[in-house]
Amino acid sequence: MSSFLTDKHVIIVGSGLGGLVCGYILAKNGFRVTVLEKNGQAGGCLQTFSRGGVKFETGMHYIGSMDRGQTLYKFFNYLSLLPDIQLSRLNTDCYDIISIGGQKFPFANGKENFVQTLAEFFPQEKENLQKYFDVVSDVAQKSPLYSLNFSNSPVFLNAGYIQQSANGFIESATDNSLLQSVLSGNVPLYAGVYGKTPLYIHALITHFYNNSAFRIVGGSDIIVRSLANSIKKMGGEVLTNKEVTKINCNSANAVSVSLKSGDTFSADFFISNTHPVRMLELLDTNLIRKAYRHRIQELSNTTGIFTVYIRFKKGTMPYLNSNFYFYKNENTAWNSVNYDPKAYPDSFLYMHQCTQSDQIFAEGAVLMAYMNFEEVERWKGTKTGSRGADYKDFKRCRAEEALLLLEKQLPGTINCIAEYYTSTPLTYFDYTGTERGSMYGVLRDCNYPVQTLVSQRTKIPNLFQTGQNINSHGILGVIIGAVITSGELLGINSVIEQVRACG
Ligand SMILES: Cc1cc2nc3c(=O)[nH]c(=O)nc-3n(C[C@H](O)[C@H](O)[C@H](O)COP(=O)(O)OP(=O)(O)OC[C@H]3O[C@@H](n4cnc5c(N)ncnc54)[C@H](O)[C@@H]3O)c2cc1C
Repeated sequence: MSSFLTDKHVIIVGSGLGGLVCGYILAKNGFRVTVLEKNGQAGGCLQTFSRGGVKFETGMHYIGSMDRGQTLYKFFNYLSLLPDIQLSRLNTDCYDIISIGGQKFPFANGKENFVQTLAEFFPQEKENLQKYFDVVSDVAQKSPLYSLNFSNSPVFLNAGYIQQSANGFIESATDNSLLQSVLSGNVPLYAGVYGKTPLYIHALITHFYNNSAFRIVGGSDIIVRSLANSIKKMGGEVLTNKEVTKINCNSANAVSVSLKSGDTFSADFFISNTHPVRMLELLDTNLIRKAYRHRIQELSNTTGIFTVYIRFKKGTMPYLNSNFYFYKNENTAWNSVNYDPKAYPDSFLYMHQCTQSDQIFAEGAVLMAYMNFEEVERWKGTKTGSRGADYKDFKRCRAEEALLLLEKQLPGTINCIAEYYTSTPLTYFDYTGTERGSMYGVLRDCNYPVQTLVSQRTKIPNLFQTGQNINSHGILGVIIGAVITSGELLGINSVIEQVRACG
């Protein structure tokens, strides 16, 4: 047990990445930390499950910027994650393969390599590709927290990067419509919406993976175990099967949380790692104004996802050391969120699971395609595993459609499949509480940048928010969000200084 630098106790509702990273930072700085998780397994989207001896990741399939000195490496070092995590580098010449109607284009690591590789397909476009990438790099450099610079305001930015749409930026970079499509090829990484998703989201994510790209050997739950163990070693606790049903307030502050079990936990500070709409459901107090409730409830969320988890027959499927993005045609990338259910799916993302370094055959894979909550809404309120035969049929049809499309792109795949399992946006809604099963939470809109920003602060002075709805989603976006939230209690520059001191 550590001796606490302060006698202040903080309760964190939810053990997603944001909750655990806040827990780590605050425990390291002397707070007494209690993380309360409703599920039996901690981690939110970092949870894994096993079927037939194969482990599947549910929401963290690859990470970037993990070479020594790169941004995520520095955060992982600070979070004591490096000794516990083994990484497998994706093919540096094509960490992502973008297939437009079957024509395949590689994304290669490093600016020069990226530009040169694509210029081989688009020789007239080399200069435009260079200019495109210069902006992508500039966005990352101008973001204080992504470049770990001290700042009075953690929220960067050049208004142009916030107020310009990602697709508008790509369209201004080149007139070549096929190249526009290729550069939009990683759109599922942020579930972008045409005319809305800001340029900075596309740029930060593209830059993050272009620096270096890896799979986590053995699965993303290793991150969860490592962070939870560190929190415990520092005297904190991560408690599972503890669903918070209410955040209790007096006339000025939050004072305690009530659990489904009937228990009550008091603390000095509270952090919600749930979706903001879920947090509001826990609050019955005049401290939260109706206008705020209304604004949060009215926010649009990014789309949901249908996943086919594939278990291969042993020793049959050669390991694919790239991620495979498929679009039916040049117009699909941005239109896919509005897919036609009768012609499902028109795009997908396919990735192999990495269970060991130097993997030769894949044991498992995930095939993911957008799915809107409307498609599964009629089963809302039913329980996983007993939603009924019609739900099973619906999932089977969707899976077969997706697998047939995969087979057309990568012939021979279906023959290697031993069994497959599926999840829908309803699964995510039930497991993580994300609004309408949304993949990445609240949709940022470049036309309403302020209105679609969720603050880490609430109207209750000792209640804060963290997770993918603050700052941004993804491993780096959420870690930075947790730095912003912890910065409310510790001072943001103090946290940045600690991270920088780790080298
Ligand atoms: C399909 C998919 C694939 C992805 N792939 C990648 C990837 O390859 N790389 C990448 O960087 N990012 C990826 N992401 C994004 C990334 O997983 C998320 O942005 C991130 O994990 C979200 O973390 P979070 O802190 O917001 O918490 P969440 O994961 O949303 O977790 C919230 C937690 O709060 C708990 N909770 C909710 N309500 C309560 C309550 N009342 N009481 C107690 N606990 C509660 C939930 O059970 C959950 O554990 C992916 C996401 C999805 C959906």
